[in-house]
Amino acid sequence: MISKRAQSVAPSETLKISAKAKELKRQGKSIVSLSAGEPDFNTPEHVCSAAIKAIKDGFHGYTMNTGTPELRNAISKKLKRDNDLNYDPSQIICSNGAKQSLGFSMLALLDPGDEAIIPAPYWVSYPEMAKLAGAKPVTVRTSFDANYKMTPQQLEEAITERTKVLVLCSPSNPTGACYSLKELKKLAEVLQDYPDIYIISDEIYEYIVFENEHAGILQAAPDLADRTLLINGFSKGFAMTGWRLGYMAGPQDVVDAVAKIQSQETSAPSSISQKAGEAAYTGDLTAVTYMREQFKKRRDFIVEELESIDGLKCFKPSGAFYVFPDISHYLGMKTHQGEEINSSTDLCMYLIEEQGLATVPGDAFGEPNGIRLSYASSMDELEEAMIRLRKGLLELA
Ligand code: PLP
Repeated sequence: MISKRAQSVAPSETLKISAKAKELKRQGKSIVSLSAGEPDFNTPEHVCSAAIKAIKDGFHGYTMNTGTPELRNAISKKLKRDNDLNYDPSQIICSNGAKQSLGFSMLALLDPGDEAIIPAPYWVSYPEMAKLAGAKPVTVRTSFDANYKMTPQQLEEAITERTKVLVLCSPSNPTGACYSLKELKKLAEVLQDYPDIYIISDEIYEYIVFENEHAGILQAAPDLADRTLLINGFSKGFAMTGWRLGYMAGPQDVVDAVAKIQSQETSAPSSISQKAGEAAYTGDLTAVTYMREQFKKRRDFIVEELESIDGLKCFKPSGAFYVFPDISHYLGMKTHQGEEINSSTDLCMYLIEEQGLATVPGDAFGEPNGIRLSYASSMDELEEAMIRLRKGLLELA
């Protein structure tokens, strides 16, 4: 019999669409996919060279559970350089991707009965991770008009005496929205009144911010450092999703608890990836800047296209590589075959089946009125995708 814990976890809702996309591709149908959650670039050359050198140098063994001192040192310096934050390397723990740091952080903080506040639309794994830790995810639905950002009032209303954790994700997956320093200060003001709440700040898209400088909760309220877990990694900014390298920086007692869990569950990430990560943080950032500029051009293109489609509502996201238009206008409409579109999942299924366009339904992220389009694709693909989207939506009545 499968454990209650495993049974409580929802399978990924995005799998249905990707399974459909694969099946149609196998049948020879032309599929354009805007469903990727990863950059379409290669890892920068100097980062790859550092990994090759590590292999050739025989850097093949287990490293310290929390990561090599050299990598943690590089992360500590990066946090000072880019974020004006002071973390001793002992307060940093490297992991197999930000995902692992997030999951272990929740395991280290949450007990059964505790509540974790998760603003929606959210990255799919947060509620499931909270559930795996035995806690209750409390989702807070935000509005399109607020660019899907949680207001201080919504935060205040969601807090109960059981609230243990607040998860913040900026830039956001799936919306691309970024909290401004001012907005974060307002949220921090609420949090000042609740000293027992920990903040998990997922800043994995930090390097993909277009207009303003990236701001996290600790730039807004440095005094929250003793209860903030800063999560970051190499996947998105350096196009290193497959290398599986992320980290958490936080107060010593939580870091030590996460280290204990990690030592029993996985140990340190790959020694080779750690050498690559060190090169990424100590080396030149030209490739990161280049990728950001490309994402910005694509964002401008896709937003302009979406805005020109009557019925879609869209705001210009300031980070990550996603747009999340409101599709509520189309709910209740019918396809030319007479099938009713009753949800974002129905709409995405229709787009993949009829137009060969793969997108991700907002249902998967806790926001039924949106769909997520990733622009981590070439301009040619984006142009074709917009033709298909426009045609598909026009054919609904
Ligand atoms: N956090 C967010 C918001 C993400 O979108 C992702 C990846 O999709 C992750 C964390 C996980 O990143 P990693 O590849 O470092 O595990």
